[in-house]
Amino acid sequence: MNYDYKALSEKYGTPLYMYNFDYISNRYTTLKEAFSGKKSLINYAVKANSNLSVISHLANMGAGADCVSIGEVRRAIDAGVAPYRIIFSGVGKRDDEIKEALEKDILLLNLESEAEMKRVEMVATALGKKARISIRVNPNIDPQTHPYISTGLHENKFGVEIDMAKRMYIYAKKSEFLDPVGIHFHIGSQLTKLSPIREACDIVSDLVRSLKAIKIDIKFFDVGGGIGVVYDDEVTITAEEYTQAIFQSTKGLDLTLLCEPGRYMVANAGAFFTKVLYEKINGSKRFVIVDGAMNDLIRPSLYDAYHKIEALGIDGDTSKADVVGPVCESGDFFGKNVDLPPLAHNDLLVIHSAGAYGFTMASNYNTRAKPAEVALEEGKDRLIRRRESYEDQVRLELEYLK
Ligand SMILES: *Cc1c(COP(=O)(O)O)cnc(C)c1O
Repeated sequence: MNYDYKALSEKYGTPLYMYNFDYISNRYTTLKEAFSGKKSLINYAVKANSNLSVISHLANMGAGADCVSIGEVRRAIDAGVAPYRIIFSGVGKRDDEIKEALEKDILLLNLESEAEMKRVEMVATALGKKARISIRVNPNIDPQTHPYISTGLHENKFGVEIDMAKRMYIYAKKSEFLDPVGIHFHIGSQLTKLSPIREACDIVSDLVRSLKAIKIDIKFFDVGGGIGVVYDDEVTITAEEYTQAIFQSTKGLDLTLLCEPGRYMVANAGAFFTKVLYEKINGSKRFVIVDGAMNDLIRPSLYDAYHKIEALGIDGDTSKADVVGPVCESGDFFGKNVDLPPLAHNDLLVIHSAGAYGFTMASNYNTRAKPAEVALEEGKDRLIRRRESYEDQVRLELEYLK
């Protein structure tokens, strides 16, 4: 389906996020089909893009949700995800979050420490409700990805070591208010190699076997998220390779397979649209200054992440330029040494692969309003979040102004 991005950028204004919902459907179907023949549940990682319409689109296809705060759990439920398809992960949960999750009767609480397990047990006891839990195992595997997004090594704050996990399962099994039915790992994000996933799966499958041997019957095997996507010219894992590796590791075990893809579902469904304000030359350096900034899309600044940048419908001899925003930080850039044609005021730039960890990481830094978000589906466009106003931003402060 072709869209007139220039016209849409005029219609909704810039900076702007647009997401292709048909692409998201395709991704979901591809992954779900790769699991066919097995009991499986795809728990979309809401933090990648938590717009209610995005979650709802996936929920309508049958997806569950992986949430990392009670706010995300509420979003998932508001968007129509059934509570029995929701899991709540994260390294720290407040008592009130645990309580609400238990009251909402979600599928699983993923636990990341012994201390957290004890808190969950206390809250569950007070409620008189048995908590279905899963323990996040840290298999100590180098995921061979960016250090900021690697989570499966002991030096990271995530999960517990195998021996600790075993002790926790034995404790939980004896508890009146804990029901240890799941096991979980998530070794990192933007994984482009299969071997770390295979290794982690093998280690955790062995743990499941040893738990089953002592009558701790794990039913949900959650391999986390992290499937890498193409931002530039990466060669990444296919859905088929991914599931085959999981099937091999878990052979002979009766399990429901869970996974938590975020980026895989939405990164390349989305793009960020920004208009050129003007060009500027400092010495020999060319800068293209645009109306979007790091507060809208922080991945280049935060992770030095690459996003392909394209000048829409503009020809001409290209030269290297840094594409920068108006925010008062040297780190406010979308790309460095990007080949771009000569650009004029109001020319449109597309920053590709911005559907994941784009809007969800946006802030109001420099009192900039968060951009609008638009869905593209079956040839039609619709607003799914209006652009913030100045009034939206000051609303919570104005009443306190003396
Ligand atoms: C962030 C995260 C995910 C999603 O990661 P992607 O790389 O976007 O697939 C899944 N599970 C957990 C526990 C996470 O923290």
